[in-house]
Amino acid sequence: MNLSSRFRGSLLAGAIGDALGAATEFDSIDRIREIAGPDGITDFIEAYGGIGKITDDTQMTMFTLEALLRARINGGDVVHALQMAYQRWLHTQGVPWTRARGPKNTSEEPDGWLITVAELFSRRAPGLTCFGELEAYGRTGIQPSIDRPVNNSKGCGGVMRAAPIALWSDDPAEVFELGADSAALTHGHPSGYLSSGAFAVIVQQLLAGVPLRYAVDVSIKELVKHRMHEEQLTALEAALKLDGPPTPERVESLGQGNIGETALSMSVYVALNTGDPNTALLAAVNHSGDSDSTGSICGNLVGAMYGEEALQSSWLNRLELREAIERLADDALAEFGVGTKSDDRRVSRYPAD
Ligand SMILES: [Mg+2]
Repeated sequence: MNLSSRFRGSLLAGAIGDALGAATEFDSIDRIREIAGPDGITDFIEAYGGIGKITDDTQMTMFTLEALLRARINGGDVVHALQMAYQRWLHTQGVPWTRARGPKNTSEEPDGWLITVAELFSRRAPGLTCFGELEAYGRTGIQPSIDRPVNNSKGCGGVMRAAPIALWSDDPAEVFELGADSAALTHGHPSGYLSSGAFAVIVQQLLAGVPLRYAVDVSIKELVKHRMHEEQLTALEAALKLDGPPTPERVESLGQGNIGETALSMSVYVALNTGDPNTALLAAVNHSGDSDSTGSICGNLVGAMYGEEALQSSWLNRLELREAIERLADDALAEFGVGTKSDDRRVSRYPAD
């Protein structure tokens, strides 16, 4: 399986998992069974006025990848590129550009290709921490960091958008750093950003064809270099110890998935204990926790493990934003290694910040 299949698979399966869980974020498993039938979620159900609709997890993941492309093509500080990409996402959520762009930015309109994708302009229960901290950047222009945290949040809003950072480097340490730095733009608690670093490394290893169990070990080697890593380490170890095919009860025994460390550990457990991506995607959303985020994160894992071709076509065919996700993935693959770099228009699609 080549990198293209794994990377496209990672993004597409993440979006499918997000869409499968979109209608039942935080519903109890009993409520999910009332809504979807005795087997719980087995297919897309209506959410946000349609079928196959993605949520903020996928939207923000797309802006993460856009930032990496802009920084790779034009140079410059990639963490600042991520900040600006998230400000453009904030604008898609209804915040006027003049309030979203930040005081140092004087552009009259947001630029680049991604912001022209009309379907992105839709609010899908955006996380309050992400929204609030990006609004604060819009007012102050102060870029938060691990050393200058703006809050003590360990919500899963950082880790849920981090999968594309896997492409940034072949070096696990560099990928971990950028994963953590990207999440620290909105989440100040170590479990809010170390989860993101660990997740990006796991995806990086999966894209290289490393089996998940070993990919997790590589991420743990990086994780333990950072202060206050214990909580995330404990959560990952619990996922590795938990045996047997995923049931709602087993998945929930690891947590609710609304915070970084359990969103990652629940997703890792499901991916480790299933034999195909489609079974994993359903197991990742059928529990009482943050179904769209664990669906999205687990999808990013299993898509990279099994590749695009293994994904159920009835889901791919009805997935919102499929074309935009594929185009973004192909542009990224061209810039980050395989394929030919498209043409000079790539600079107008992905301008400098
Ligand atoms: Mg969501």
